Amino acid sequence: MTAAPFECTRCGACCFSTSDRYVSVTGDDYERLGATADSIAVFFENRCYLKMVDNRCAALRITERGSFFCLIYEVRPAVCRDLVPGSAACEAEQFRKAECAAKILRSESMIVDKSR
Ligand code: SF4
Ligand code: SF4
Repeated sequence: MTAAPFECTRCGACCFSTSDRYVSVTGDDYERLGATADSIAVFFENRCYLKMVDNRCAALRITERGSFFCLIYEVRPAVCRDLVPGSAACEAEQFRKAECAAKILRSESMIVDKSR
């Protein structure tokens, strides 16, 4: 996996949502996910999305040092690729959702990936 930009590996704000239909998966996205698609994507009627767990994307992980990272960064859906780190949209996500990430870090309710 190619490392995400520095600020992305620490932030994770844009990976939180209360919606089960937050991360759209197009046909191309589904194909790019390869073998992972079956386990991480879910269909609502004929639309596909990444699964959400406790108001966050199922692909979001945390390191032992308390940084977030995307388990499928190289093959993440287009909607994630389109959000440019440092852009106005990125800053808006950080502003609106920083507390979601902070709460997770405080509660340590996510599975810690000890390989990082
Ligand atoms: S909100 Fe911005 S900095 Fe944070 S993970 Fe998303 S793209 Fe990266
Ligand atoms: S696929 Fe990766 S970048 Fe996109 S929302 Fe999920 S954890 Fe975040």
